[in-house]
Amino acid sequence: MRRAGLGGVFHLMEIRNSVCPYDCPDCCGLRVHVEGGHATRVEGDPSHPFTRGTLCPKMAHYERTVHNDRRIQHPMRRTGKKGEGMFERISWDAAIEEIAARWKRIIAADGAEAILPYSYAGTMGIVQHGAGHAFFARLGASSLDRTICSPAKRAGYKAVMGDTRCAAPQEAQESDCIVLWGCSMLATDIHFRHDVEAARKKGARVLCIDTYETKTAQYADEFFCVKPGTDGAFALGVLHVLAREGLTDEAFIEAHVTGWEALKERRLPHYTPERAAAETGVPAAEIERFARLYGMARAPFIRTGSGYSRYAGGAAATRLIACLPAAVGAYARRGGGFLSSISGGKAFDRDIVHRPDLAKKGVRHINMCALGNVLTDARLAPRVRSLYVYASNPACTAPDQNRVLAGLSRGDLFTVVHERFLTDTARYADIVLPATSSLEHDDLYYSYGHYTVERARAVIPPVGESRSNWAVFCALAHAMGIKDAFFDQTADALVEALIASADRAWELPVDKARLAACEPVELPLPAGYKMDFLTPSGKIEIENPREEPALPDYIAPYGDAAAFALVSAPDMRILDSSFCEREELTREGTMVLMMHPADAARLALTDGVEVVCGNTRGAARFTLKCTPRVPAGRVVTEGVWWQALTKGGNVNRLTAQRLTDSGGGSTFYDVCVDVRAARCVWGRGDFAKNVETDKEGEDGYGRNPT
Ligand code: SF4
Repeated sequence: MRRAGLGGVFHLMEIRNSVCPYDCPDCCGLRVHVEGGHATRVEGDPSHPFTRGTLCPKMAHYERTVHNDRRIQHPMRRTGKKGEGMFERISWDAAIEEIAARWKRIIAADGAEAILPYSYAGTMGIVQHGAGHAFFARLGASSLDRTICSPAKRAGYKAVMGDTRCAAPQEAQESDCIVLWGCSMLATDIHFRHDVEAARKKGARVLCIDTYETKTAQYADEFFCVKPGTDGAFALGVLHVLAREGLTDEAFIEAHVTGWEALKERRLPHYTPERAAAETGVPAAEIERFARLYGMARAPFIRTGSGYSRYAGGAAATRLIACLPAAVGAYARRGGGFLSSISGGKAFDRDIVHRPDLAKKGVRHINMCALGNVLTDARLAPRVRSLYVYASNPACTAPDQNRVLAGLSRGDLFTVVHERFLTDTARYADIVLPATSSLEHDDLYYSYGHYTVERARAVIPPVGESRSNWAVFCALAHAMGIKDAFFDQTADALVEALIASADRAWELPVDKARLAACEPVELPLPAGYKMDFLTPSGKIEIENPREEPALPDYIAPYGDAAAFALVSAPDMRILDSSFCEREELTREGTMVLMMHPADAARLALTDGVEVVCGNTRGAARFTLKCTPRVPAGRVVTEGVWWQALTKGGNVNRLTAQRLTDSGGGSTFYDVCVDVRAARCVWGRGDFAKNVETDKEGEDGYGRNPT
């Protein structure tokens, strides 16, 4: 602690540990400078074992989000039309009373299933992320299947690997061949670069598989550019070559794999490099080259992103990718393995927060990807009469946006949004509640990209009248007459109980003293954990009789009757729709559509013109950027921008509610569009005008309702 001068007044300045709460595999350790109850500076924690003191540009000035002028400071009631964003200030007591009164009436008329919670990963801490689970379970509300991100990847991994722990990212430092598969490392997993660089210095080659030339592809030594949604076919072609050229580890397969012979006999003959080339667009010779680089490496390491799994066959593709390290015995080699998604959350008994025992039997489940249909389908019984949104912004991030907005516009839908900013969804709310940022509440964090966990205590008081998710659900429980001591606890008490649960949840002792002191703690891994195959057979299950089909096969993307495959990639300036509040990150303009120059020439489009992309679901406008980084027949846009930053809607005007083959996952990337010149130039932020124009359906792609 030290004193800092500020205009002649001296404040105590402290540096406190915290954790980045956003939906990112890195889960960075933070050091927050606090002065006079304000966060004045945020920097990386150099003691963090994975993130090692660096942050992405978004979080390097997190204090600008926390103390942003646009923070919602108090509860509000809607005064204008839905979507207009007009509200009046009300007290917390009035807000809670009104919500409880409306819900009691809805439950009496239609039953509790007419209430639908909607949340995702706006904050990743175990307590605040899952704060509503117990409350809504106890209420008997519809249960939300939280499937918008990567459940297909999880399902595919589980089908082959069961509960086997993924390789730690640091393991890759010892690899001689690192494959970044659909992993936009320089945008979404930036700290893994440290491990990749360490391996590279020792001579490792870095291979990248993606659908266009990302910055990560440019960074890699070799780039293999697949058609969107064809990763499973690429994996099959590579497996064919590995088998044909004797590049497999037969001793490893014999001891640790089931189903290899079946795959070899029943699938691989159909996936010659030529057939795989026809599916993927990667020349057969390049597929062979990849197979040799991978198969002849001493210890190949695959790191997958999630985008490749957001297609019709996302789970099948993951199953097929998981066959590669099994075929070459990568798990047995130091530095080799497969990093799909790490489940550091297993270190704690999360049921302490989620309380699945409170769930009423037979309550219906609603897939969050289908929100548009759920809100607009009058046949649903009971119809959803109230939507409670927290840690999510579905008006912006859910697929088939026109339908979502039509649903949110319903006059008979009572919508409550608990948020830090007046997001696209909050603009449709009847009641808006101010939410704390991660610096203002207590929580416990784990990562899905590495094995470090960390506790974070509130380091500043709540901004304005904001309250944490947990505090609001406790207040709502009381208002709804739920008498259960569970809802009398503090978030910190839940964190304590979670930390205590590590004794039974994790098989090796976790350093609870460091955890209690808000220091990053690396979860200890058993020696040989990569070879501890936690499947029913104790082996890697290429063939899994509990799956349909038992033997994985390539599933082609849905596609659409339109000319271009649309890839919606991450933008480094924002994360999902978070950080759109930050003027300095978004001011350079948004909504660029990248297209190959030959396609642009064919359509008589030039660099910098306004174009409209459309399909049967809707239309969205972009500024065209001609670049050979995008192959012909594809277009790419980066980022999911708030409506106010767009020219009449973001990329989700075009995405579909269709689900993946397994896991019920989203298929955001499985989309095709037509592209043509826009008839008028749209001003940035000129939302009202844009909506009005869209209502006229002038683009001929269907209407964008307000
Ligand atoms: S968004 Fe990701 S990279 Fe950026 S600080 Fe948070 S965890 Fe780290």
